Amino acid sequence: MKKKIAVGVIGVGHLGLLHAKMFNQIPTVEFVGVHDINQERIKKVSDELGVRSFFSLEDLLKNVSAVSIATPTSTHYQIAETALNYNVHLFIEKPITASIEEAHRLIRLAEDKGVKIQVGHIERFNPALMALEKYHLQPMFIESHRLSQFNMRGTDVAVVLDLMIHDIDIINSLVKSPWRNIQASGVAVVSDTIDIANARIQFENGCVANVTASRISQRKMRKMRLFQRDAYISIDFLEGSTEIFRLVGEDELDLNSVMMFGEISRGNARCKITYERPPVREINALKYELELFIDSIVNGKEPIVSATDGLRALEIAQQIVNEINQQNTSL
Ligand code: NAD
Repeated sequence: MKKKIAVGVIGVGHLGLLHAKMFNQIPTVEFVGVHDINQERIKKVSDELGVRSFFSLEDLLKNVSAVSIATPTSTHYQIAETALNYNVHLFIEKPITASIEEAHRLIRLAEDKGVKIQVGHIERFNPALMALEKYHLQPMFIESHRLSQFNMRGTDVAVVLDLMIHDIDIINSLVKSPWRNIQASGVAVVSDTIDIANARIQFENGCVANVTASRISQRKMRKMRLFQRDAYISIDFLEGSTEIFRLVGEDELDLNSVMMFGEISRGNARCKITYERPPVREINALKYELELFIDSIVNGKEPIVSATDGLRALEIAQQIVNEINQQNTSL
């Protein structure tokens, strides 16, 4: 039988409790226990799940080989650095850290220690996005909207670092090119940090992403639209559905997998417009990303969402926040 990985969760609030519940269900995990600065929270969660309570962070770290850090972003670096000194593999909720410098330091430290870091950019595992795995995506224009209702949780950081960073990470994974120029605007409407923001990110390969995030909307929305030569793709992360419109030549048309939507002329050739809704698997994205984290430890693989990915998303998010702050102070 394969050796199980001993795991703990640090910070068992809203998301950390879900991490703990998921780890408890993964067969390759020996879920050891939980730590939080709130002792009542430790008791409640450890009683509920039948695992050990750790009132000291160091005690937990001595008993595990991997932890997930689901504390507020401002505390990620300190906790991660302490954990790395115990040679513990890390799953860190997004954003990886509060500052770029902290993320660089963690990456260097993890390399020295030879341990893995995966960052909780969970939307990479949204089934609606994963349904596009077999397609060749090369978007040149992207439009994304991530809107939610107001909740004090997460307002310790700008909406850019809390919500928009999900889309930034996805866009980075699709575009695979460094950014060249960023323009942004935003406003702190209700909280003390930016609650609504829009950014236009230009990449070196020519792609432009127009990204909007809000936490003061009446209705939830999480949509991304990708435009590329011969295709338009619409992803609804909330509904878990994906639609693809493509232009194909007569000889490529396979009516078993697509519907004919129309026909147009391009030069002398006739092109078909096809419509597809690729099958979307039923996956619990949180459980899946944690399973992949454990798998990367067991099989010595690079995590799919690495610390470097977390850093790249943070660099763009930070640049957007800087642009907005600069603009707002010059008013
Ligand atoms: P939360 O406030 O519900 O929970 C945070 C918990 O951490 C609390 O129980 C708190 O007592 C504990 N805590 C605070 N400081 C601590 C410390 N120094 N040591 C140990 N415990 C500490 O917050 P949340 O909504 O669960 O968010 C936690 C993290 O998860 C944040 O980084 C957030 O950005 C991220 N998050 C990610 C997603 C996602 O979609 N991936 C969604 C929500 C939150």
